[in-house]
Amino acid sequence: MARHQGGAKPCFVQSLQRVTALAKVYFNYSAMNAGKSTILLQASHNYRERGMETLLFTAALDDRAGVGVIGSRIGLKAEAQTFNSTDNLLEIVGEATEQQSIGCVLVDEAQFLSEEQVWQLCRVADRLGIPVMCYGLRTDFQGKMFPGSATLLAVADVLREIRTICWCGRKATMVVRLDGDGRVMDEGDQVAIGGEESYVSLCRRHWEARDIGPRSQLKMFL
Ligand SMILES: [Zn+2]
Repeated sequence: MARHQGGAKPCFVQSLQRVTALAKVYFNYSAMNAGKSTILLQASHNYRERGMETLLFTAALDDRAGVGVIGSRIGLKAEAQTFNSTDNLLEIVGEATEQQSIGCVLVDEAQFLSEEQVWQLCRVADRLGIPVMCYGLRTDFQGKMFPGSATLLAVADVLREIRTICWCGRKATMVVRLDGDGRVMDEGDQVAIGGEESYVSLCRRHWEARDIGPRSQLKMFL
């Protein structure tokens, strides 16, 4: 690469370097059971293997793996800070960087972020220069967008779909909620974690038909 000889670098070179050094906000979205927590934990591991610290967040309302823990269905888990709707994530990350250098911020259950918190995470990337990787569901069981996901889809730098499949073999983009007896629920709160309910990922066609496939395959999810 050609180097500028003598004196300070021209302003435009300095500003170009600043631009190229900007960190990005990633939104990795999926339907249910796509293994996104596994991918998050692997990404964190990759940073740490290179000697960089990571900061992990998960929603305070998700206690499936224990409060403050991100767990995956294949058994991996790691401690995480929990966030609720009133937390200022820019402040929390900023304080953490005073203790140690942070290589990456990873957020699980990102659909539960508020719109403001997504912007706080954008500032983590833009002002602190730390990449932010968010993992979450795109839509709820009624086919409606989560507020956190809607904002991330609007403003994240990089959108990545984590694919999973319907029982028919097509890509699953939708989720149905089942009650304790395995019946499809059409109503209820957007957030219901840790109850009797379970979730099944379906393609749009089978989501609209409320067709969760042969019972033998359903056992995989219950
Ligand atoms: Zn299908």
